[in-house]
Amino acid sequence: MFWGDDIIDDFLKEYGDEAKKRQLILRDEKTMSGKPHVGSLRSYIMHAVLSDVLTDRGVDNVFHYELNDTDAFDSVPDYVPAEWKEHLGKRLKDVPAPDGKSANYAEQFGKEYSDVLKDSQFNAKYYYVSSKYEAGEFDEYIRLALDHKDEIREIYRTVSGSDKPEGWYPCQVVCDKCGKIATTKVTGWDGKEVEYSCSAEVGDAKGCGHEGKKSPFGGNATMPWKVEWAAKFCVMKVDLEGAGKDHYAAGGSRHVSNRICEEIFKHKHPFDVRHEFILLGGAKMSSSAGVGCTAVDLYNLLPRYLFRFMMIQKEVMKTINFDPEGDTVPVLFDQYDEACRGYFDGGEDVKDHKNRIFELTHFHEKKDLKKLDRFLPRFNHISFFVQMPHLDVSARVEEMKGSALTKTDKEEMNLRVEYAKKWLGDFGPERYVFTVHEEVPGAASELSAEQKKFLGDLATVLEEKDWSGEELHSKIHELKEASGIAPKEIFGAIYVSLLGKDSGPQAGWFLEALDKDFLIKRFKEISNG
Ligand SMILES: [Zn+2]
Repeated sequence: MFWGDDIIDDFLKEYGDEAKKRQLILRDEKTMSGKPHVGSLRSYIMHAVLSDVLTDRGVDNVFHYELNDTDAFDSVPDYVPAEWKEHLGKRLKDVPAPDGKSANYAEQFGKEYSDVLKDSQFNAKYYYVSSKYEAGEFDEYIRLALDHKDEIREIYRTVSGSDKPEGWYPCQVVCDKCGKIATTKVTGWDGKEVEYSCSAEVGDAKGCGHEGKKSPFGGNATMPWKVEWAAKFCVMKVDLEGAGKDHYAAGGSRHVSNRICEEIFKHKHPFDVRHEFILLGGAKMSSSAGVGCTAVDLYNLLPRYLFRFMMIQKEVMKTINFDPEGDTVPVLFDQYDEACRGYFDGGEDVKDHKNRIFELTHFHEKKDLKKLDRFLPRFNHISFFVQMPHLDVSARVEEMKGSALTKTDKEEMNLRVEYAKKWLGDFGPERYVFTVHEEVPGAASELSAEQKKFLGDLATVLEEKDWSGEELHSKIHELKEASGIAPKEIFGAIYVSLLGKDSGPQAGWFLEALDKDFLIKRFKEISNG
């Protein structure tokens, strides 16, 4: 069964009657402290998919995605000018935008991120949390938290073992003098106003020494995040909200927030769901300075449907390993192609797990899903075709299909050509990138006498007629059987003599794509040399 249906079955078991009375609410968030990392996509998409599953079952729901702009600015990313250091400790909404155009720091990155999320056509409504604070929607919970600070302290202590000091208040206010929030400490509460001092040193942010008194309401304050998380469940009336499995570990933050929500705020905590992470492989994606470690970079690397497919097909409690320098991208295309073929050619059972994944991948275009029944040229082949000089990709793809390409076939082919070029250019995956050498590569001199003889035989075969890729593939195997040389050495001889390395694209297709006279000359030259 599809993971999203499993979760929604359990959810509706608990919320079934509510679901008939009102719109159900799902929520997730991301702090806009810079360009969001790839990892933030997992949680966003889990919620968005669950929302789609509910919609698909006719259950009214909305998924609210918070762009958090009230957390403190706590480090300057390397793509932001170093002088932004002076703003450390302020709320992200009070930090100027590095681009000089956006309203503030959080909005610059919030817009960049939400533009991509919107483009992915997962369903969500975006909001900045400062708007809720300023509208007074958190006031009731700030008051409850201040009034019940000792009970909250006790929840922290019993659940997570964290001991807050005597005189701790679950609230922070913006300093009237320097505008920072991370550096202030509330020291008293009279039911209307809090006393505070701006004297803490948090990372590189230093308090200005100011002491004052002010109302914590209407956007003047925030709460420590576990208390604030609980308040958000109430303010947004959340029915379902999940989190990474780390938050659910013993003593984890979600257990603290759920208890504060129920015991202090007297509100049922949302239905729990946990998820695994996305792990990045390859040096380029995992280093912070490299190409492509942000959510936006990952998104741009794949066509929309493939991005959606990747995120939907993996069970939420299984890790997604993404290595753009290895096999990840071609394997994903193959998996999608299999799902698509299965959907259109594999029988009537649309409840089948894979068909469900395919439908949700294209959820937004559901009405004309039939249009997606197009010819899917293997991405492996496309990524090889685009590296061949003078090759007519369209003619090759038509040959693979065995009939004329329709308009939709051509669109798909062009899309794959575009993404293959981008992938090869940005990540240069070693196994997939090659150059046909104009002269005999130096490495060819190291080929054995048997390998050279095989190349001579292959040249003779090529002289016979114009072979198709598939025919060449079996011919090479025949020569291999006859010679008794190991497969690795046979194919190695072909690749070394053309590419100067011992691996390359599928040999039959590869040879078919190259100029026949060029190949005969090259193989003879090596075989006679
Ligand atoms: Zn201050």
